[in-house]
Amino acid sequence: MIKSSYHLFTIFGIPIKADLSLLILVFILARNESHPVYSIIAGFVLLLSILLHELGHSLTAIAFGCRVRDITLMMIGGCASMLSMPRKAWQEFLMAFAGPAVSLALAILGFLATQTPVGHVLATTELSYFFFNYMMYLNSILFIFNLLPAFPMDGGRILRAFLQQFFMTKVRATWVASRLGRFIAILMALSAVYSLVTKDFSGYLIIRLLIAYSIYSAAEQEYQMVLAEEGYNNGNPFSRFGFPFFGRTTRTPPPDDGQAYVSPPPYERGGAKKVDVRKE
Ligand SMILES: [Zn+2]
Repeated sequence: MIKSSYHLFTIFGIPIKADLSLLILVFILARNESHPVYSIIAGFVLLLSILLHELGHSLTAIAFGCRVRDITLMMIGGCASMLSMPRKAWQEFLMAFAGPAVSLALAILGFLATQTPVGHVLATTELSYFFFNYMMYLNSILFIFNLLPAFPMDGGRILRAFLQQFFMTKVRATWVASRLGRFIAILMALSAVYSLVTKDFSGYLIIRLLIAYSIYSAAEQEYQMVLAEEGYNNGNPFSRFGFPFFGRTTRTPPPDDGQAYVSPPPYERGGAKKVDVRKE
């Protein structure tokens, strides 16, 4: 994937960036809508919805004392890069749920504007009706899709937080959530292959494949990160079968240098040197 992203503006102290892959999305939208004006509105609603969703995560994280590096808007959605993550399971639960909660609120706003007499004052013209109707449609999808238990998507994070809170350690919870995430990613990829075979290109086939790939790789990446974070420095600590419920459970304690409770930036593995402290 193209990595280059460009700084657009800063809001609540969080730099907002646009990824080059958005250009592809522009073409997809332009092809789908009948008139360029509708394409522009659709694109605007999409970016606005993703931005507000990510701000939901980010502002909740900041409320728990975490640091947000930036928000990047991409073709396959948004990504809020955290410099530190909440330590407590219930905090991660709230942080993960805040994004879908924003999407649900936007979907309800779109519903009120287009389907109820009271809200109809917002959607009097054809264009404003399209705006709110698309907002309802898109955010319903964002809400449901993000709640899929496909770690590291929001639903998967919620699942992990739930497991961690009530049943198991963070490492085990992450193992379960990330394996389920990879399973769902495989199903998603298979559905894209099926669409390809049946020549049904309507359902955002390429985007589905890219999302499946990014879930598949990010699930493992974040599992490895949690292992390192929790002091398991030599890969899977549990057994040679990669199954964490049995086997050796010795662990080296986190280094006591005052840094132990600062998580490594989760999305920065492989590119960890790029952490920039912004002073613009
Ligand atoms: Zn989200």
